[in-house]
This record gives sequence, structure tokens and C-alpha cells, in this order.
Amino acid sequence: MSEKLLVIEDLAVYYFTRADVIKAVDGVSIEMNKGEVLGLVGESGCGKSTLGYAIIRLIPSPGRIVSGRILFHGENLVEKSEEEMRDLRGRRISMIFQDPMTSLNPVMKIKDHIVETLMVHGYEDEQKALDRARELVEMLGIEPSRLEDYPHQLSGGMRQRIAIALAIALNPDLVIADEPTTALDVIVQAQILELLKDLRKKYNLSFVFITHDLGVAAELVDNVAVMYCGKIVEYASTDRLFAEPLHPYTRGLLRSVPNVLMKKWDLSPIPGTLPNPADPPPGCRFHPRCPHATDRCRREEPKLMDVGGTKVACFLYR
Ligand code: SF4
Repeated sequence: MSEKLLVIEDLAVYYFTRADVIKAVDGVSIEMNKGEVLGLVGESGCGKSTLGYAIIRLIPSPGRIVSGRILFHGENLVEKSEEEMRDLRGRRISMIFQDPMTSLNPVMKIKDHIVETLMVHGYEDEQKALDRARELVEMLGIEPSRLEDYPHQLSGGMRQRIAIALAIALNPDLVIADEPTTALDVIVQAQILELLKDLRKKYNLSFVFITHDLGVAAELVDNVAVMYCGKIVEYASTDRLFAEPLHPYTRGLLRSVPNVLMKKWDLSPIPGTLPNPADPPPGCRFHPRCPHATDRCRREEPKLMDVGGTKVACFLYR
């Protein structure tokens, strides 16, 4: 039996503003095995990035985890102190951000970023840390001489490679990648995806891969969780999800992007917009945009249920 690396149980993350309580993640349960790449997909504002940030406990203020558990190797991260989380971040769980400049200090040389990360987490010898920095950048296809550069001297693709080097420097068990290719042009995007695939194969890395791009998800992930307005509405293996999407929202997402794998669907956008997460619609949150909505959908909230190996939250399948 595969080892469960991450088990999330009924997690809720809300942002408390003066005017509203924004329910960014609202009752999410999901699990992943060691060595797995789990994709979180959905439109901007559906809660996927908040879920990623919750796992590493980096939710920006005024957000906080209000309920639920995040079990990482069986330890509940929600109960850990900030000091314990600081020790764990980078060493056991790390993050790749959409904009690499978020994780790079513009006035520090690249070598200092990597050496500092290594020394904060246990390297005692600076020379050994520098050797590891050289090994890492070479592995990621960058000349070691570029370690002497500052972030602004590198291209966007190189900066993202350095951000990946920082994320994997300490061989973490889990890497959370938040739209790591979105800010890059398509050629560099393809190179970074190839690089992540290679790293995964070589080091049996586990990723939570957050993306709004289903084409990118199809390239890399094993299982996909589709999020809508703070909830998971469909969860399946990547092959299954692309071959036989069940939830009307997933079908809409697939119809709204050019996709060679889905020849039988015409390209057409989902009507309407995401509802306000501070005041989500009653019943099924997708009902205002769903062509199959009934009175029951407007009243009652569908729960995730198993339909032939896919988990789906929709009354069409009851
Ligand atoms: Fe549409 Fe109803 Fe299914 Fe929601 S539960 S996706 S409104 S059919």
C-alpha cells in the first residue's frame, strides 16, 4: 500500500475583512501519496492557491485556518507553532511561487540565496553549501558562474530555475508549486515543465501543482482536484478526468480551452462569473452557471461521491 504523504480533512480557510468573511477554502478533504503529483485546478479566485498556502501555513493576513486538519506524514500542521513551521518549511515542505522575484532578494547574489537557505537548515560548512549550490544550478541547466549574478541579471526562465533550486535544495518531501509557469512564455514554460518532470522522476518528488491551465495539468499531474468557489467539485486521475469529465463545471472548463485531448467538445466559455465567496449561492455553488440546475440544486449542497472511480459533487449522478 502506498504511504499517505498528505491528508487534508474538512479544511476551511477564511479571510476576515472589515466588511465580509471570505470563505476561500470551505470544507476541503483530499489526500495524496508519496511520489504523487496532485493538480489543483480551477478559475482564478476558486481557492486553489489559498489551499496551497494553507498546507505550508503561509496564508497572508487577514486569512486564517478556521477548522480542519492537515496531516503531513501523520502530523497535524494546523497545530504546529510558527517556530516548528519555520523549521519544517524548506526542509520538508517547500514552495515555488508564480513570480520567482517573490522568493529572491534583488540585492543578494544567487549564490547567497542558496547558501543561506542551506545554512539556516543545518549546513555548517559554507564551502560545502557552496558546492551544493553549484551542483544544484548545474542540475537545473544553469552555468555555475551565474551564481555570482543578482536576480535582475537573469532571464525569467533562469530565475524560475533558481526558485526551483531553492525549493529542492534540502530534498523536501513535498513541493507546492503555485502556477510556476504562468508568468513565462510558452517555450520557457515547456522547458520548466520538462525540468519538473525530470526532477520528479530522478528524486521521486511529490508536488502539489496549482494551475488554472488544464493543458499544463495534463502534462505533469497524476490526479486532479477541480475546485470551484472554495470546494472540490471533482477529483479523479488525470487520464480519467480528461477522458470522461463528470461535473458540469469540469466539462465547462475543458470546453473553454483549446485542447487536443478533448476533440468531442466544442470550444465555448462557461457563462457567468465566479460567485462572491463572501456570499456563495445556497445549495450547489455552481447552480447559477449550470445548464442542468434543478430546484434541488438551488436548495441542497451536493457532497462528493464516488462514481466509477471519480469523486464528483453533483446531483446528476445520484
Ligand atoms: Fe449543476 Fe445541480 Fe450538478 Fe450543481 S448539482 S453541477 S447545479 S446539476
